Amino acid sequence: MCRAFYCYELVPDLFQIVALGALLRGTFDMDTQPLGAGDSSGSARAEKPLNRRFIESATEMRRLAIEQGDQAYGAVIVRAGQIVGEAPSRVVVNQDPTAHAEMEAIRDAARRLGTRDLADCVMYSTSRPCAMCEAAAYWAHIDRLFFGMEAQDGGAPGLGRC
Ligand SMILES: [Zn+2]
Repeated sequence: MCRAFYCYELVPDLFQIVALGALLRGTFDMDTQPLGAGDSSGSARAEKPLNRRFIESATEMRRLAIEQGDQAYGAVIVRAGQIVGEAPSRVVVNQDPTAHAEMEAIRDAARRLGTRDLADCVMYSTSRPCAMCEAAAYWAHIDRLFFGMEAQDGGAPGLGRC
């Protein structure tokens, strides 16, 4: 596990610039995303079609973030096969350094479900959640994290990783 894959690091920002150019040219293709490249941690790659579907939903949030001029990240939260929370990054739009897509998706799910306990929920995000977002997922009791275009299994959220 390496900080280079945290969502606030440089590599995704470079990708954001490339993706924005491709978006403007109408050739945007998420499969070109370099996330996970070089990651040899041995995390299991989820093959379930549902995972793919929810990662695509997170990618829609990512596209929304780009359209709004924000950082290129998106996240969704799923319970029992249904999306119960979703959000793009709002760091720039809200001038809030804590408004990462994952934080916003957690807030959205808690509001929609009327509870701060998100047990039995799974979070999908377009990049590996940073330490802040993973800790928030831990406190929300989210069961499991998946990230990146190949829905890498990030396991259960924990505190103090990396
Ligand atoms: Zn984060």
